[in-house]
Amino acid sequence: MSDKHIISIDLRGELYVPDTVLIPYIEGDGTGPDLWAATRPVLDAAVAKAYGGVRKILWIEILAGEKADRKVGKWLPEETLEQIRKYRVAIKGPLTTPVGKGFRSINVALRQELDLYACVRPVKYIPGIPSPLKRPRDVDMIVYRENTEDVYAGLEWEAGSPMARKLIELVKQEDGRQIRMDAGIGLKPMSRFGSTRLVRKAIQYALEHHRKSVTLVHKGNIMKYTEGAFRTWGYETAIAEFRDAVLTEEEIRRNTGGDHPADKLVIKDRITDAMFQQILLRPAEYDVLAMPNLNGDYMSDALAAMAGGLGMAPGANIGDGYAVFEATHGTAPRYAGQDKVNPGSLILSGAMMLDYLGWKEAADLVRDALVRTVEAKTVTYDLARQMEGATEVRCSRFGEAMIQLM
Ligand code: NAD
Repeated sequence: MSDKHIISIDLRGELYVPDTVLIPYIEGDGTGPDLWAATRPVLDAAVAKAYGGVRKILWIEILAGEKADRKVGKWLPEETLEQIRKYRVAIKGPLTTPVGKGFRSINVALRQELDLYACVRPVKYIPGIPSPLKRPRDVDMIVYRENTEDVYAGLEWEAGSPMARKLIELVKQEDGRQIRMDAGIGLKPMSRFGSTRLVRKAIQYALEHHRKSVTLVHKGNIMKYTEGAFRTWGYETAIAEFRDAVLTEEEIRRNTGGDHPADKLVIKDRITDAMFQQILLRPAEYDVLAMPNLNGDYMSDALAAMAGGLGMAPGANIGDGYAVFEATHGTAPRYAGQDKVNPGSLILSGAMMLDYLGWKEAADLVRDALVRTVEAKTVTYDLARQMEGATEVRCSRFGEAMIQLM
């Protein structure tokens, strides 16, 4: 296929997306093929409707997971990584992580190999979806989770192993502090580089989308040189790179007695445990959230539950010039091949992808059609069993209903 259909990037990092664009997809394992079969026509229909045939996606299948293992004997073939590097943007269904020692999750491998350092999870309540909250409509947040560092770096040694023992000795010798000899040891690296680029991305997003605030979420009261440093570096980045566009909460308190100037993005920070209370009690006060890896993992799932569960929560892993959009749930293997599960998460991830391409009209059509389909109480089994008067439909039918409402 011709190179003129490939996304490119200019010196300032801006994407150039041709009107007919090649996008690779990974179908995924378990229910992945059902989810993708429902999602693809929805995305194609939205693009056709929004641009009347002027814009078009040419899909190319790339392999990962069980299908790749079956066809080429590798769970994550090098060619798949090369294709994503070449085409820059990809979308994927969920992938199985085989259980067993030494097996790296394919999802983690993809993030690391492509340096997709921001895990982005928007959480916005869709009216009608069952939620445990009293005022779920107040939930409209987007999590920017650092994706490459922290305790996820994989620097861990088993209790009694030579490395664990050596590190315990080293700490005793060099620092005078005691760690029990039978302790397992893990390292939690968090760098200025890694924290800064994540916070930068969150602030850029907030400014481009006219959001009100960016909250740095950290446990810096306890882990001063990792999580505390994340907070310090976050504020430094905001001031050094975005001075004219931002005010810190502290500056607002000092200068205006608490009134937020409407034209400024507010930068604030919260300790993680307090933040878990805040998202439940005062969700309307929070908007874009930037946080280290472990905090982000917990908080994005908690937020998804507040807004109606993982079945409707989209996600993306974004680096500089590369992005992979994905359903946030797993493969739900029990339902594989039954055309049963909820394709909402993958469909909304597709809408995020259209946004990323700058095809906002098509993205809005997808989101709007999904909201209206749920409003009509046409939903898959997972939601139907919790919604009074709902019509339960198959996975593929949910996608078709969305297309009809576009
Ligand atoms: P899971 O998300 O597959 O399932 C958890 C529960 O949610 C199950 O009850 C399942 O039936 C339900 N569920 C999941 N997706 C649904 C959907 N779209 N609609 C309706 N119900 C849905 O998590 P798991 O069981 O812990 O993991 C299964 C496999 O998926 C494992 O191999 C795991 O490693 C993998 N996994 C992959 C990803 C990914 O690719 N990003 C994420 C999580 C888990």
